[in-house]
Amino acid sequence: MFEKSTWIRLPRNVLVGHGVLDQTGEAVSELHLSGTPLIVTSPTPKEVAGDRVVNELSERGETPETVVVKRASFEEIERVIEVARGVKPGYLVGVGGGKAIDIAKMAAADQKLGFVSVPTAASHDGIVSGRGSVPDGGTRHSVAADPPLAVIADTEVLADAPWRLTTAGCADIISNYTAVRDWQLAHRLQNVEYSEYSGALSRMTAEMLVENADSLKKGLEESAWVVVKALVSSGVAMSIAGSSRPASGAEHLFSHQLDRLAPGEALHGHQVGVGSIMTAYLQEGEYGEWQNIQSALDTIGAPTTATALGIDGETILEALTTAHEIRDRYTILGDGIDRDAAREAATVTGVL
Ligand SMILES: [Zn+2]
Repeated sequence: MFEKSTWIRLPRNVLVGHGVLDQTGEAVSELHLSGTPLIVTSPTPKEVAGDRVVNELSERGETPETVVVKRASFEEIERVIEVARGVKPGYLVGVGGGKAIDIAKMAAADQKLGFVSVPTAASHDGIVSGRGSVPDGGTRHSVAADPPLAVIADTEVLADAPWRLTTAGCADIISNYTAVRDWQLAHRLQNVEYSEYSGALSRMTAEMLVENADSLKKGLEESAWVVVKALVSSGVAMSIAGSSRPASGAEHLFSHQLDRLAPGEALHGHQVGVGSIMTAYLQEGEYGEWQNIQSALDTIGAPTTATALGIDGETILEALTTAHEIRDRYTILGDGIDRDAAREAATVTGVL
């Protein structure tokens, strides 16, 4: 008898387009959300979008409360939870790049409340997924919560964000190539459950960005549109899988390790992109997909070398040789690769 069951949780309303911030109130009413909205934002996003969201919701007769966060840290999550305990909001709204949205997501999960994601930069796939993690001392604090109830991605705002944030989002998506290969490997070697739909969707999303890499340009609203749609699609792949596997393999472990060794040096997506070049090399050898990944990153202006990341070579090698220790996730790194192999991978691919 077939007894398997899965829950696929998806965002219900995804608004992408020019000026959709003005439809925040409508999107929220349509979800039948009630109670005080608690807006979680950071200083710049507050100016470019947070205040507009507050106005929009106020016009609907709500009385939103706002909390401004400064860093992605465990203390900041605790602080937002503390504010939420006082305000007793009906739902949370994260307005920002990665930071404010991750914090809103994690505080909402803690308080068992829904949250709405209003990204002001298309910088990583956390803006549509239920997954979040922030550094907590030497480790990371992670949640696997529900995805946002709604995503409101205003392309006018996103196109105005610093271009490097958009290239980071692109690199995060392009890394799906190596994440899917690692997932398939884990399926073959460790019997990890693999979803064909999710794997295919994730890979196709990366392919579409690579194929369109030369049309992605700074300041073009259409580029913001393409990238944010890809981030949504990548988030859907994770929802179908019920895990971050379709978008997170060895290149993500490498990036998490860099976060510990060189905190704040480079953006998540940029680290992941460089990690993906080396991971592809390890997966397939000298004549594999790594050249395609590298040239796509290069075309959009994302870093492809340690120097461009602003991280020294020794730290890159340290991260690559210790990345497997981070979490119980089988990847091409297996039980770890030695330093000479890491140096070889980094050198052949031109990362070092
Ligand atoms: Zn990522």
